[in-house]
Amino acid sequence: MTSAPQVTAHGGGVWSIPVPIPDNPLGHTLVHVLDTDSGPVLIDTGWDDPDSWQALADGLAACGTAPGELHGVIVTHHHPDHHGLSARVREESGAWIAMHAADAHAVRRAREVRPTVWLRYYVDKLAAAGAPESHTAPLREALAHGWEGAFPGHRAALPDREIPPGELLEGLPGRRLRAIWTPGHTPGHVCLHLEERHGAGDRLFSGDHLLPTVTPHIGLYEDPAEDLESGGGADTPPSPRLRSGRGDPLGDYLASLERVARLAPAQVLPAHEYAFAGARERADEIAAHHAERLSGLRTLLAERPRTPWELAEAMRWNRPWADIPFGSRNIAVAEAEAHLRHLVKLGLAEPVPGGEPVSYRATAAC
Ligand SMILES: [Zn+2]
Ligand SMILES: [Zn+2]
Repeated sequence: MTSAPQVTAHGGGVWSIPVPIPDNPLGHTLVHVLDTDSGPVLIDTGWDDPDSWQALADGLAACGTAPGELHGVIVTHHHPDHHGLSARVREESGAWIAMHAADAHAVRRAREVRPTVWLRYYVDKLAAAGAPESHTAPLREALAHGWEGAFPGHRAALPDREIPPGELLEGLPGRRLRAIWTPGHTPGHVCLHLEERHGAGDRLFSGDHLLPTVTPHIGLYEDPAEDLESGGGADTPPSPRLRSGRGDPLGDYLASLERVARLAPAQVLPAHEYAFAGARERADEIAAHHAERLSGLRTLLAERPRTPWELAEAMRWNRPWADIPFGSRNIAVAEAEAHLRHLVKLGLAEPVPGGEPVSYRATAAC
């Protein structure tokens, strides 16, 4: 059940193939094909699903190549809509897979840590953020009844190569592609700068970092083995006490946005939606969106102390909180926590001592 691929030729040996993501409002991942003197290289691969694979194979055929011809895979970040089909591509072609070390670490964790440990970790995180008992009850019940599910990424491919930030990528004869480390959406997200000038000029493969109309999700970096005070190894059930204070993903993201804006590529080739010009303008819009979010949260915290969950309930979303489905509430609270973490880093908010779960308040600073 496939439709004709709508491959776009961007010129200069660059194409994009829309690879569908099942049941996702984003619709598809734009997998980019970059021709090199050693054969075509993919930037991202798409979701691991038979229809998605067929769309990728059909798209490659439309570019005049085939999965078996691929020379390498460069992964912008470890999310399953980007890295899902990498294993299959490597199987078919023997292509190498390159990824930034921080996301390679995340892939390793996703494979090593048992799904039940992940689920307990999420339950503990939600409780620590102030989620009500009614929200976590179905998850606790699943655990109590011996849930043995899986998360996407459990079988994701371990990369063969690291992407060193700031350097020209090796193994791409005839091309100048430089990795720009852009942490925030994930700790090891990279954008890839094609420095050659074809037609309109230089181009940036921006992954999920810079998209024309949507803002990427910024939550907290997740790592059960590091976040659990018990040291919770791959098989150890986590203790309910989570460490807090690790990293500032929103701060990372805003710094990464600025890095890409300063680069000012002539064209941005994102992994969702469509290609666009005006990286600086788009980066400014996204930064303004987060600044507005941060000042809104600080106002809420100045009214009274709130837990991250209470903040998420009070924030403005694209629909009323009561209409936000269960799974999306988890994403919303992670987004609230990332903003809260950044306010704390800036000295604009602080935890109220002694509470469990911890509430936060605005500081006197202005
Ligand atoms: Zn992503
Ligand atoms: Zn994505």
